[in-house]
Amino acid sequence: MKYQDVRNFINGEFVSCDNKRMDVDSPLTGSVISTVPLSSYHDVDLAVNAAKNAFPAWSGMTSKMRSQILYNYRQLLEENVEMLAAIIHDENGKTMDEAIAEVRKSIELTEFACSIPQIAVGEVLEVSIGVECRTEYAPLGVVACINPFNFPHMVPHWTVPNALALGNCIVVKPSELTPVTTTKMAEMLKQAGLPDGVFNVVNGAKDVVEAICDHPEIKAVSFVGSTPVAQIVYRRATSNLKRCLALGGAKNHLIVLPDANLELSAADIAASMCGSAGQRCMAASVMIAVGNVNPIVEKLCEEVLKFIPGKKMPPIISRQSRENLVAYITEAEKNGAVLLVDGRQFSNDEQADPNGYYLGPTIIDWRHTDAKMPYQEVFGPVFEIISAKSVEEAISVQHESPFGNAASAFTQNGAIAKMVAQNASAGMIGINIGVPVPREPFSFGGWNASKFGAGDITGKSSLGFWSQLKKVTSKWAKQEITDWMS
Ligand code: NAD
Repeated sequence: MKYQDVRNFINGEFVSCDNKRMDVDSPLTGSVISTVPLSSYHDVDLAVNAAKNAFPAWSGMTSKMRSQILYNYRQLLEENVEMLAAIIHDENGKTMDEAIAEVRKSIELTEFACSIPQIAVGEVLEVSIGVECRTEYAPLGVVACINPFNFPHMVPHWTVPNALALGNCIVVKPSELTPVTTTKMAEMLKQAGLPDGVFNVVNGAKDVVEAICDHPEIKAVSFVGSTPVAQIVYRRATSNLKRCLALGGAKNHLIVLPDANLELSAADIAASMCGSAGQRCMAASVMIAVGNVNPIVEKLCEEVLKFIPGKKMPPIISRQSRENLVAYITEAEKNGAVLLVDGRQFSNDEQADPNGYYLGPTIIDWRHTDAKMPYQEVFGPVFEIISAKSVEEAISVQHESPFGNAASAFTQNGAIAKMVAQNASAGMIGINIGVPVPREPFSFGGWNASKFGAGDITGKSSLGFWSQLKKVTSKWAKQEITDWMS
């Protein structure tokens, strides 16, 4: 096997456990590259105890001291971009360019966390004569984060650096499909000087997630994954009186007008739907064509063919997911949709392994049928086109989606762009941009069934999630002049 068997990381050490193990396949080749333990409540309990023991010393450091360790870690990331990207490429399948971009994003997220001492400074005010009130950000204690397969490095960096900078100790649960990357994260945090027990990793699947939601010592849980699981996690964690922020799936709508810039729109939409083989929660999923946008659709069909599977486009994460996508395309065709580009028939790059889980880009046109496009998340390089008679109708169609991660407008008309931005029911809006991910210091988070819980998962908006405000009111001397609250 290319990689050692994955082990849990508890109290600064990789530990073996007797649990059943699961194979980790590379979607590039379909072959086993490692194995991962399916841990239990007992393993979560060990990790929580390590985190709890580490908490007094870690939370007792100043935030400037903690951020020095994150600066060291950021430097290690910078020195190891290629090595980390190669692991992501192997276990997730994304292209090396995409994997490098993912690590670079993790660096940006770590830089934000390094700046927390400059941001989370609290406030002070003399509230009555001789009486001062000040606030400070106090950590919560032991917290946990549960991750999906599609960004095995970036998504843990949405949460871990900020949670650590604010003084928490953490238990991380990677996706069982992509656990090797998090192993490297553990090694590098230790190398950066993070004290033992502050960062722990427990591998596995449903049992580990349930143990995290149930463990009485875990104060807050972040989750990123599909909507059905986000709902389960949110309900279970909050019913156990924990804070929870659970990000779910998406189906992102693009409202496209005939005046949109042809070249820019087609290239951006193609890159959005095909990047990471459409396995991004911000990927373009549905075009709502307002009027005749056929030139843009034709150009889009040309552009997507540049995303050759195995060269510019990665495989699907698993054989099963690929089969689900093929079934979705076949069902759409049976229901009268027209396949403008059919990803079931494609040519791989000659370098690509024929056993990899590849699928070509697919464009499904529903415009000429009465059948309604299903509102489920597809999560692959599959783009659907529907139509609306007006921008108002397009916005109301977007509102019918249960999700609300991203929505975009493609137009040269500023007033229409503003109308879409104001009225679309989504947390992240793009104007002539296919992947409207807000970069630091702006925060990331959707609406509706794309997110359960308050606040966003990154940026300033996340600081409140990983901390609690302490209010200190003090008086040191009797004043000659007083007021009604002195
Ligand atoms: P998933 O929901 O299958 O798994 C996510 C995590 O939940 C994994 O760690 C997994 O082990 C665990 N899990 C799976 N089933 C479970 C169950 N029944 N009970 C408890 N835990 C369970 O998601 P995935 O396939 O790994 O990732 C893809 C999904 O994540 C897509 O839906 C995508 O849209 C979403 N996603 C959303 C965002 C966002 O920001 N909203 C970002 C990235 C990915």
